[in-house]
Amino acid sequence: MKPITAAVITLGCRLNQADSALLNDRLIRLGFQIVSPDASSSPNLILVNSCTVTETAYKKSKQALRSIRAENPQSFIVFTGCAADVSKDELEQNQDIDLVLTNEQKKDIETILPQYLALLEKRDVPAAPKLAKGIFAEQAQGVFPFRSRAFIKVQEGCNNSCSYCIVPTARGPERSRDLKEITAEFRKAVDDGFHEIVLTGVNTCHYKAGKVGMPELIDRLCEIPGDFRIRLSSTEPCDELFPIVDAMKRNAAKVCEFLHLPLQSGCDRILKAMNRHCGTAKFAEYAAYAREAIPNLHLGTDIIVGFPGETDADFAESLKFLRKTDFANIHVFPYSPRSGTPAADMSDKVQKTVVADRIEQLKALKEECAQKFAKSLVGTTGAVLIETNCNKKELWDGWSGNYVRTIVSSESDIARKLLRVKFLRFLPVGALFAEIINEPG
Ligand code: SF4
Repeated sequence: MKPITAAVITLGCRLNQADSALLNDRLIRLGFQIVSPDASSSPNLILVNSCTVTETAYKKSKQALRSIRAENPQSFIVFTGCAADVSKDELEQNQDIDLVLTNEQKKDIETILPQYLALLEKRDVPAAPKLAKGIFAEQAQGVFPFRSRAFIKVQEGCNNSCSYCIVPTARGPERSRDLKEITAEFRKAVDDGFHEIVLTGVNTCHYKAGKVGMPELIDRLCEIPGDFRIRLSSTEPCDELFPIVDAMKRNAAKVCEFLHLPLQSGCDRILKAMNRHCGTAKFAEYAAYAREAIPNLHLGTDIIVGFPGETDADFAESLKFLRKTDFANIHVFPYSPRSGTPAADMSDKVQKTVVADRIEQLKALKEECAQKFAKSLVGTTGAVLIETNCNKKELWDGWSGNYVRTIVSSESDIARKLLRVKFLRFLPVGALFAEIINEPG
């Protein structure tokens, strides 16, 4: 009998990738065979896990949907994710979509889908366990076909109210995932041979399941036997970082030297207008503490350019702080008004040409910082997760724990291997060239 096939297409953040992995598991339990979205024949079902963090992200989600529908006229298309939460009514009118599901309904696809598809036998879905307030369970385990790293969702939602952000509306208040579920999913990822496991959420620093916060979670996961490393993602600058950094330090052999702390602006006046909880002085304290504890730390950040009222002087102040902080990477985003947020109603919009000019300046700084950081690693050793072969037979492409693209030479097939290397030189393509210290047998 021909298998019923499904493909999950993920747009947006690492949390969405973790959600997609859980969706894969639920679909497998429903009897689907997971196929690549570009499989030669169209899948029976395509699930688009969308993003709406910016207006541009929402437009991209809709553009992606149009081409998915054009290439797969016969497939049943389910549209879910943050865009589905925020713009449900509009999307329900979209002819390319067969079914819109909110973020919360993702958990219920095992009961919802059979009603629509008539493809499956009736089956029992286990009842949800009773959990303490603020704890949630997914009752699914991430499945990551076609990927070299696994993404595990540990936390959901946000209690902050940054004035530009739609995420609290799309994902609701903070809650933490059941510890047993996380541990089981983590063990499975290790058993399945994943050498890098990314812990993700909206703000993983606020993970709290009973007495277990993020530092204790890191300790517990690092005790699991196996050849893996943990990458912590979705960390907001907050005081919980101090014990988290301590946990990263005591588990240095297993946790990537990587911390991405969204600053959003290096100007305190703008941070206040953004209703951010962390000003530049506090941010500098977190950065110094983390750098002191973790050698060769990749400290990255996000910056929004052109927030309403951002003057030339504000931008210059921001640029000065960014230079001083010496990030390994800066993700630069133009401010994008999201309807329903306080910032969308603020006057004093910054002209598009001014925003474009500021973005160019920040991109130049980003390039400079990334090169400086990569060059600082030459002569050091580290671990690289190999992803692909670089077309030239013996060269392989991967990522170091401190998230620098690294190229190594090997005649064996080393795809998806975690290798210890020594970084030898910086290459004009913007990557490091490294020699393998432990070639796999
Ligand atoms: S911390 Fe601020 S930017 Fe981050 S998700 Fe919460 S409200 Fe949005």
